[in-house]
Amino acid sequence: MSETVLRILIEELTTLRIVCKRCESSIDVVILKIEPGSKFLCPSCGGDLRRAIADPDDYSRLAEAIRNIRSIKSRDEAQIKSVEFVVPQKGEGDR
Ligand SMILES: [Zn+2]
Repeated sequence: MSETVLRILIEELTTLRIVCKRCESSIDVVILKIEPGSKFLCPSCGGDLRRAIADPDDYSRLAEAIRNIRSIKSRDEAQIKSVEFVVPQKGEGDR
């Protein structure tokens, strides 16, 4: 069976979109600029999209993980050309 996949390079993971549960508006956050304690406020209702998450929270851990994976490639001993996320794409026949 053939499969279509979307390959996303780790370098292309730059932005996190967070959708507000209350009003469904969203904010786009630059992943590498995520710092512990910074506020993510909903642009429509002002809801705190980071509340109730311990610090350092999962957003910070995600940013750190991406930084760490990117840094692996730059090490001289690394035999890695690229790191990709593979996302299977649903075709017409899968719906
Ligand atoms: Zn909201």
